[in-house]
Amino acid sequence: MTETYSMKAMTWRGGNNFTSDQVNIPSVIDNTCLIEIDTAGICGTDIHITQGLFPSPENVVLGHEFSGKVVEVGKGVDKNLLYQSITAQPVGGCGACENCKKWSLSHCEKNQRRAGAFSEYVLVDAKGTYIIPDNLNIENAALTEPAACSLSCVEMLRKPLSKSTAVVIGNGLLGLLTIYFLKHMGIDKIISSEIAQSRRSLAKKFGSDITIDPSTTDLAEVVKAETNGYGADIVAEAVGNPNVIKSCFDLIRPRGQMLLVGVHPKGSYLPFDLYDLHFNEISIFGAFGAGNSFERALNHLPNMPLETIISGRYPLDELAVAVEKSANAEGIKFVIGPND
Ligand SMILES: [Zn+2]
Ligand SMILES: [Zn+2]
Repeated sequence: MTETYSMKAMTWRGGNNFTSDQVNIPSVIDNTCLIEIDTAGICGTDIHITQGLFPSPENVVLGHEFSGKVVEVGKGVDKNLLYQSITAQPVGGCGACENCKKWSLSHCEKNQRRAGAFSEYVLVDAKGTYIIPDNLNIENAALTEPAACSLSCVEMLRKPLSKSTAVVIGNGLLGLLTIYFLKHMGIDKIISSEIAQSRRSLAKKFGSDITIDPSTTDLAEVVKAETNGYGADIVAEAVGNPNVIKSCFDLIRPRGQMLLVGVHPKGSYLPFDLYDLHFNEISIFGAFGAGNSFERALNHLPNMPLETIISGRYPLDELAVAVEKSANAEGIKFVIGPND
């Protein structure tokens, strides 16, 4: 770096408290690059952390969904990456450890999460960076990580036979992305369930065929009517509420697949009869993180109806306000512009 050596970063201090701190700009080391953050998204996980529902150490800088510009590259990094607009996986993935080989790159055992994106700059492994395609703007490119989480989840499923039906409960960002990827996978009919009217109209744009409001319509009745009483092939829960999981069981066909997209609070348990699970041969897929799907997700984004997905953009100092807005489910995705 030339003249400035310090930057602003928001440190999480527990609850919904953050302090604005002046800290050193991280120095690039081999195989890393320094990113000037353009956009950092607030994730459901960040909200869960501030609510004590997801374990995280305190006094760290959060933020793992971001886009920005490469301003410095370390030894071993292609110089052409310099000044490119990129998005990056929070964890690069070494590709050689057991987790990388047998599980996913986002679960790398050498996981070097260097810092969070709620700061002006962040250091990342060059291996995890991806240049943003021309037909995607840099703000929307920050949606790559959540899109990868949803895609990684959907990619675990066995593709159902023809006349397939999927149900997606909860149409926040991850629910919408799940609708999109299920449609892309070739599911014939998607039924989505969401209380908020604005989210229901987005669900239609993302590929839902039937959108229902569960406060006025019985989802189980609709699923029954649409599947000749047999049940849906796939039921995705994108709320993160164990009580909703219980209701999923009534919607699913024998040998159906259940997808846990939403993040459940630690300490919650499966709320249904395990005999029924066994007898009906139901598969349950848990999914966490971007898996190996980051680049594929990035390539899908330009084709998605993202015009109204960013509900608000805040300066770095107003991170707590943006987290609160996100927690109130008042929109879809709130972002921070640390260098605005
Ligand atoms: Zn996330
Ligand atoms: Zn690894």
